[in-house]
Amino acid sequence: MNAQNTSLQSIAIVGAGIVGLSCALELADRGVRVSLFEKQWPPRGASWAAAGMLAPAFEAIGVAENHPGLFDLCDAGARLWPEWARALETRSGKPSGYHPGPSLAVAFDQVGAEKLAAVQAALAEHALAPTECVSNLGDIDQSVANDAIAALLLPSDGQVDNRLTLDALVTCAERHERIDIRREEIALKWTAGGLDHAGHDATLLTAGWQTGSVTIERDGAPVDIRDLDASLGQIQPIGGQMLSVAPIEGAPRMTLRSGHVYIVPKANRIIIGATSEPGRVLSQSEPDQIAELRAQAIRICPVLEHAPVLESWVGVRPGRANYAPILGQTKLDNVFVASGHFRNGILLAPITAQIIADLVLTGRVSPLAATFAPNAELSERV
Ligand SMILES: Cc1cc2nc3c(=O)[nH]c(=O)nc-3n(C[C@H](O)[C@H](O)[C@H](O)COP(=O)(O)OP(=O)(O)OC[C@H]3O[C@@H](n4cnc5c(N)ncnc54)[C@H](O)[C@@H]3O)c2cc1C
Repeated sequence: MNAQNTSLQSIAIVGAGIVGLSCALELADRGVRVSLFEKQWPPRGASWAAAGMLAPAFEAIGVAENHPGLFDLCDAGARLWPEWARALETRSGKPSGYHPGPSLAVAFDQVGAEKLAAVQAALAEHALAPTECVSNLGDIDQSVANDAIAALLLPSDGQVDNRLTLDALVTCAERHERIDIRREEIALKWTAGGLDHAGHDATLLTAGWQTGSVTIERDGAPVDIRDLDASLGQIQPIGGQMLSVAPIEGAPRMTLRSGHVYIVPKANRIIIGATSEPGRVLSQSEPDQIAELRAQAIRICPVLEHAPVLESWVGVRPGRANYAPILGQTKLDNVFVASGHFRNGILLAPITAQIIADLVLTGRVSPLAATFAPNAELSERV
C-alpha cells in the first residue's frame, strides 16, 4: 500500500516521542512525505523516561477502571513487538533493547494477592494463562524475598530498553528520505480556507501529555486545539518518578512487579519505578519519593540494598481516566491524533503506527481501535 491510494501526499507530525517517530516511519515507508516537528531534540519526553515494560497482562487486565478494549489492544500490540524490534535493529544497525517475557508478579499481602487472582482469572480466557508459582519461587528468581504469599509468571509480559529503542528510531527517522526533522514547535494557522497544516495535507498530533495544548494561531491569537475538539482535553499529565541502581550479583533476572512497584533489569542498570502523580508536571525527582521507591524495591528484593543508586529522573505520562489512548480523526478536517497512551505508550507504539497509517491513508478504522476514536461514545463518557 502507498500514498497513491489517497490524495494525501504529506503530513505534519507534532512530537517525536516513540509514538510520533513510529507513526512517521510507518507513514513515510508507505510513501507519505513527513515533517516531524519536535521542540526538544533529541526527544526526552515520556518515551525516554519510561521503564520499558511491555506488559499487557499486568497493566491492562483485571483493572475495573480500564477501558474495556484496552487489553485486546495491548495484547495485539505486544504480539507485534518481536518482529517490529527485529526490523528496527536491521534498518538502524542499532539494538532495540527488546526482551520477550516472562515477567514475575509477586504479592506479600492480601490486597496484592487479590490483584494477582483477578489478573489470573481474567487471563484464563486468553491463550496467555500465567503460571501460579509461589511454591517454587526460589527456582524462578532467587532474589525475591521469601515471604511472598502469591506469585504469577506472566509469559506475555516482556520488556525493552526504551532509551535504545528511541535512539534507533531517531537514527531511522534522520536517515529516511521522506522524513524531514524540524527541530521546532509546530506553527499552525487558521486561514480563510481552514487549518493550514503548516503547509501539509494533514496533521497528526503525537505531542504526549501536551497534545491538548498544541496551539493554532487564529486572528493573531493562539487557540488551544482542545478548544476546537474537547476530546483532546481528556489527556492529562500524570507525573512519574523513578531511579536506577547498578546491576549486582544476585539481582533479579527478570521484570518483577509487586503492587505499584516494579523492578526492571536492563543490561547496564536496574530500573525501579514508579510514582503515579495525576496532574503533576514534574521537572525533577524528589529525594523522599526516590528513597521510598528504593525501600519498597528492597522489600521485594532484599539484595538491592547493596546496589548503588545510579540515577533518578522524572517523566510525564499522557493519561486519560480510563487508561486508554485516543487514536483517530479529530473534529478538525484532516487532523488526526495518537496520544494518551498513559502507562502503555512503549508497548503500543508499533500497533499505533499501523492503526494510524491505515486510517490516514485508506480511511480504514481498525476494529481494535474504533472505541479509542477521539469522539467515540465511550471516549465521551470518561
Ligand atoms: C515514569 C514512567 C514510566 C513508564 N513506564 C512505561 C512502561 O514500562 N511501559 C510502557 O509501555 N509505557 C510506560 N510509560 C508510558 C510511556 O512512556 C508513554 O505512554 C509514551 O512514552 C508516550 O509517548 P509519546 O510519544 O506520546 O510522548 P512523549 O515521549 O512524551 O513525546 C511527546 C513529544 O512531543 C513533543 N512536543 C510536545 N508539544 C510539542 C509541540 N507543540 N511541538 C513540537 N513538539 C512537541 C515533546 O517535546 C515530546 O518529545 C511510562 C511513563 C513514565 C513517565
